[in-house]
Amino acid sequence: MKSKIPCQLLFSVLLLSCIGLSSYAQEEYKDSKNKDLKELYPGGSFYEVQHYSQPKTKNHPRNIILMIGDGMGLAQVYSGMTANGGHLFLENFKNIGFSKTYSSNNYITDSAAGGTALSCGVKTYNGAIGVDPDKKPVTNIREMAEKEGFKTGLVSTSAITHATPASFIAHVDSRGSYEDIALEFLKTNIDVFIGGGIKNFEERKDGKNLSKELKEKGYQVLYNIGDIQNVKSGKLAGLTAPEHNNGMPERGEMLVPATQTALNLLSQGKKGFFLMVEGSEIDFLAHKNETPGVVLEMLDFDRAIGIALAFAASNGETLIIVTADHETGGMTLNGGDYKTGKVIAKYTSGGHTGIAVPVFAFGPGSDQFTGFMENTDIAKKMMKLLGLK
Ligand SMILES: [Zn+2]
Repeated sequence: MKSKIPCQLLFSVLLLSCIGLSSYAQEEYKDSKNKDLKELYPGGSFYEVQHYSQPKTKNHPRNIILMIGDGMGLAQVYSGMTANGGHLFLENFKNIGFSKTYSSNNYITDSAAGGTALSCGVKTYNGAIGVDPDKKPVTNIREMAEKEGFKTGLVSTSAITHATPASFIAHVDSRGSYEDIALEFLKTNIDVFIGGGIKNFEERKDGKNLSKELKEKGYQVLYNIGDIQNVKSGKLAGLTAPEHNNGMPERGEMLVPATQTALNLLSQGKKGFFLMVEGSEIDFLAHKNETPGVVLEMLDFDRAIGIALAFAASNGETLIIVTADHETGGMTLNGGDYKTGKVIAKYTSGGHTGIAVPVFAFGPGSDQFTGFMENTDIAKKMMKLLGLK
């Protein structure tokens, strides 16, 4: 039995190097017979990880960047670290804790209750966006920040109306109400949002064209990441896909330039800013138990973290929190190679799991995010650090 495994792996690696990762990503592992192939990331190119030291000048941040890796448990983080030769930008974070992710009605949360915990500081039922267990609206940190004169922004690779970003905008009983969620963007004064979801704004049952309404409110509405990253000032609605953006590698550069653009625009405010960035699709690929996709999404998210770190290290007044809403897939790592970046993963689930997820903090106030904490505490601590009520 044992002697068979290296042969299978060798065969898989040879096969992959012949057919190339992208065709592999699309075709080969969709066949359930190729379970081992699907669970193997053969290795790829590495990127350089810069080192940043944490600014020690202030106790309270002026800005907060909350970065949510959807479905990002420790195995997802470590699969990326292995695939990048043993290093990630995440290593710059020295204050680390764990978040208890359960929701008000389930040991295992979904992204709606998880997002609401992180945005509003309340435990609610699975499926709820910005409402408590009694379906009453709860104010989220972005709304509080906006009211106090901070600039605010949201970036995601999924539709911007999907559960995690929606939790920072909307108050609806059910996460599936995408068109209602899109409508709630118009009721806010958000400065920048970039993600997928054009259909929810423009192909609606009520016949409204929300992009037109956004333009009337003064937003630049742009559909192409190249155009989006050229925006130097003003309000921006970047809608880069009809629904969710593609997964990696098909998506290409989107999350990194979107994060950079949001930072460029938000840092022009007088008072500071709150930005949420989601690596949404770590979760999507972990649901499918597809290791190459999980790894590539993790690396893309880490490179966006690198953008945030470069900003925070030079700015000195910015707190970055990186965490997850929950783990997806019950992923674990049964093998790997730092030299080639190869990762062999196994999964216990096609859904989410109940395990605690890591919390990484960098910058002023980061010392408050160590040890075990409730997911709701992350929101409460951020609100307190920005002086929000
Ligand atoms: Zn999920």
